[in-house]
Amino acid sequence: MERIIGIDLGTTNSLAATVIEDGPEVVAPSGENPITPSVLTRSSGNWIVGEAAVAQRLTAPEQTVYSVKRLMGRDVEELAEEIKELPYAVIPAQRKLVKVRIGTEEFTPQELSAEILREVKRRAETALDETVSKAVITVPAYFDDAQRQATRAAAKLAGLEVVRILNEPTAAAIAYGLDERKDGYVAVYDLGGGTFDLSLLKLSGKLFKVIATHGDTRLGGDDFDRELMTLLRERLLAEHPEVTFERAETQQRLRKTAEEIKIRLSGSPETAYTLELPECGIMPQGLVTQAEFEERIAPLIERTLASCRKALGAAGLTAEQMDEVVLVGGSTVVPGVRKAVERFFGRKPHVAIDPYKVVAIGAGIQGHLLAGGRRDFLLLDVIPLALGIETLGGTFSKLITANTTIPAEVAEMFTTNVDNQTAIDVNIYQGERELVEDCRNLGRFKLRGIPPMPAGLPLVEVAFRVDANGLLIVSAKEQRSGTAAEIEVIPSHGLTQSEIDHILEESFDHAISDFNARQLIEFGQTAARMFRGIEQCWTVAEATLSTEERQELRTQMDVVRSSMQGGDAAALKRQIDALGELTRPLADTAMGRAVLEELQIAAG
Ligand code: ADP
Ligand code: MG
Repeated sequence: MERIIGIDLGTTNSLAATVIEDGPEVVAPSGENPITPSVLTRSSGNWIVGEAAVAQRLTAPEQTVYSVKRLMGRDVEELAEEIKELPYAVIPAQRKLVKVRIGTEEFTPQELSAEILREVKRRAETALDETVSKAVITVPAYFDDAQRQATRAAAKLAGLEVVRILNEPTAAAIAYGLDERKDGYVAVYDLGGGTFDLSLLKLSGKLFKVIATHGDTRLGGDDFDRELMTLLRERLLAEHPEVTFERAETQQRLRKTAEEIKIRLSGSPETAYTLELPECGIMPQGLVTQAEFEERIAPLIERTLASCRKALGAAGLTAEQMDEVVLVGGSTVVPGVRKAVERFFGRKPHVAIDPYKVVAIGAGIQGHLLAGGRRDFLLLDVIPLALGIETLGGTFSKLITANTTIPAEVAEMFTTNVDNQTAIDVNIYQGERELVEDCRNLGRFKLRGIPPMPAGLPLVEVAFRVDANGLLIVSAKEQRSGTAAEIEVIPSHGLTQSEIDHILEESFDHAISDFNARQLIEFGQTAARMFRGIEQCWTVAEATLSTEERQELRTQMDVVRSSMQGGDAAALKRQIDALGELTRPLADTAMGRAVLEELQIAAG
């Protein structure tokens, strides 16, 4: 099977992904950043691509090309505004297309994109230790024919055969395995460095169709940086009114610090910064809070939502009609963005896959499928098999059901079975069967220090939390005493999709017998409780029931006992019900009421 890699050829960043043994992965030489900035610089007749070129944006702005994706397949007129802002020379070429001039040399956008692709290909080859010649390459959903053709041409120049041009939002949906779900609508919210795109996809029969797009080609994380730059500049001027920001160096430092602050704020409520400005002889320091940042970017986020409204309007759909929402692009890591999107669509967006990588991963999966590979790896953001704990008699109590989207959190109350029980075992299982002996044990821990109380009185809350990375944290807390314990486990570890399919099949095959086995255990517990109740008020029985009635009661208890030994849950239930009937007269007495209550609990 010849490998077909997936490539996200981005405006700001590019990267490749493919399916390896464990599933889809971004590929990069070990120890290196998997992301290649889509920036290239000309140096003594050679190209330098990626990280090393980024540094040259400042020192050699006329030789350093970025945002080449904006030029692909577009003509001079369409690009008039764009060209004014770019520090490198963009000149008209034949058929109204454009070229980039560096010194005396001229390059088409395809040639420049090809250099980026060549670097991505080279890095993938180094990482995989094999030659790579075929690829699925992603483009924005709104790309027209000319833009798609230009992308194909770029790939060809880089020595890559394009097996398919894939829409970026579709790739993101594939990464989350949404093509395997039931038909419906998917909204893909993509906020990158310099562009915003909202795409509405309609899934029918495993195929996605783009039904509407709307966006803003001048809105993205760079604007967030700009807001923070303004904030820094304001603060700086308040203290040092003499500072000017004319020097490119100063601008660049300001920009870099702003982006660093932004990225740190994605992971913490506030961050300290030091702005190094040796050229001005100062080194101002300060603190920015997430709240301050969110206030500044609120109007920008609102603009993205306006785009969402337009796209929905064009498609004649409402936000509530979306079945799934997917986040794409580095800027969707910003907590304020996530919150706003969740509020707008009224549902939790998919976030488990790094939004930086999700398009490449989807392209990698598509390439794998086109190469004849199978989707026999785990979906990345759903819990594949139910998670729960062992309860009385070896039954499996599911807390989180299969196909729940992560992150997820569920808590349930449990209690003790025996008087004065001071510890409970929390035994964690994964599976789809009714008895824990047919499930996979994931781990166990003991909650100790429960104050002695009658059985059924302690309130133990068991909480299952699966974080965005699939890590399961199980905690137990006795509510009255506050005693608590927890454990962390990786639920799907070591399981492939085909193993999971097998487990699911088995659970279907055993559905009826499992149900019976579980009921046998549960009815057995009911019967045991009834026996205890009857023995407890035997003096009441002696006073209320005739000898024959008492004998009948004893006989029926024996029938229930022998029925418990048999394997038929329905038959056991019938005998328990008959026993219930015989104990009814006991309930008319004060002492017997307690028993009745017990029996009601038991029957419930
Ligand atoms: P593109 O699709 O335009 O190539 P990307 O999806 O790679 O863009 O996103 C790049 C943007 O994401 C940049 O503005 C970068 O600063 C921003 N970004 C990356 N990581 C984070 C983060 N942790 N928090 C906030 N923004 C981030
Ligand atoms: Mg992108």
